[in-house]
Amino acid sequence: MRVGCPKEIKNNEYRVGLTPGSVREYIARGHEVIVETGAGLGIDADDGAYRAAGAKIVETAKDVFEQADMIVKVKEPQPAEWAMLREGQLLYTYLHLAPDPEQTKGLVESGCTAIAYETVTDAHGGLPLLAPMSEVAGRLSIQAGATALEKINGGRGLLLGGVPGVLPGKVSIIGGGVVGLNAAKMAVGLGADVTIVDRSLGRLRELDDLFGGRIHTRYSTIEAVEEEVFSADVVVGAVLIPGAAAPKLVTREMLSGMKKGAVIVDVAIDQGGCFETSHATTHSNPTFEVDGVVHYCVANMPGAVPVTSAHALNNATLQYGLQLADKGLKAIAENRHLRAGLNVHRGRITNEAVASALGYEL
Ligand code: NAD
Repeated sequence: MRVGCPKEIKNNEYRVGLTPGSVREYIARGHEVIVETGAGLGIDADDGAYRAAGAKIVETAKDVFEQADMIVKVKEPQPAEWAMLREGQLLYTYLHLAPDPEQTKGLVESGCTAIAYETVTDAHGGLPLLAPMSEVAGRLSIQAGATALEKINGGRGLLLGGVPGVLPGKVSIIGGGVVGLNAAKMAVGLGADVTIVDRSLGRLRELDDLFGGRIHTRYSTIEAVEEEVFSADVVVGAVLIPGAAAPKLVTREMLSGMKKGAVIVDVAIDQGGCFETSHATTHSNPTFEVDGVVHYCVANMPGAVPVTSAHALNNATLQYGLQLADKGLKAIAENRHLRAGLNVHRGRITNEAVASALGYEL
């Protein structure tokens, strides 16, 4: 198959659908790979690196879309991109169609077959192509929280790890899934006093075993959440109810009980956030203050570290991408996890949640 990778054009997107390492894997399986010039510059991979991996470099996105049978990207296609998709072409990327009727219409009208990273499943009931970005965001959340906690950035002026003779800061993590676990690892690594709150007892047991007594775990009730946010220096919001908006677990009223200069990192902001006072921010202006509490609510946290994020994403997308390239539509028919990723096929919506959100027939 001819596999194409255009340069990402969404504002501030520096990741790339295929790293040179992934290109080598497609080439080794006998596929052709066409890459737009400069596609990998955001991750320090120049055209030479792609040529060395076996790719053909072309001058424009139009060349990629015209020549490739399958397009591999990171972000949902932008209007100029969906206009270039054609009937029968495979598109493999993040789509997030439910809140995006315009893009959905564009993809439906193109006649392409679109597989959304975010709805591909695995044998454990997880979302394997979302998990790497949750790992990145979870780890970043502690870096972001620690920075915001500095006096000069509006925080309490506290070092999370403390020093010998001075107590460390307290990090409370609400939601102990992929983001929460990775946040806890970083916070423990810095020497902070860490508590994870989750509503799954099974998950709390796993986390307790994993950290061998180095963290505290708490069952999620209104009382527990309140006590945690009142005593914390950094609160990480990491809850997820699949397919739903994040529950507002921390109300505006609760903020008044928090320490002045404490920091909220609302990682769940991409699902609306789990703090009532959160609103999405950007990397260029990441924080704002409400009632003396610093809020960090960047909706695309992994975008800050495209080198790590692009490689982590490729590690997860590669095996499914190779199946698509090897077998085309047969891969979707044979693999139910890949089929779960199918959102649009030949002018129809094939994902139930997207169809019901946007009023399409399945
Ligand atoms: P996950 O499914 O692995 O974990 C979510 C956890 O929340 C689960 O353990 C669940 O039991 C727990 N939970 C649900 N309701 C709860 C409640 N009332 N109280 C306490 N815990 C509760 O999800 P994840 O991959 O860790 O993702 C968490 C959030 O982070 C999602 O909204 C995801 O979209 C978001 N995210 C944001 C970014 C970003 O850049 N901002 C990047 C990646 C992920």
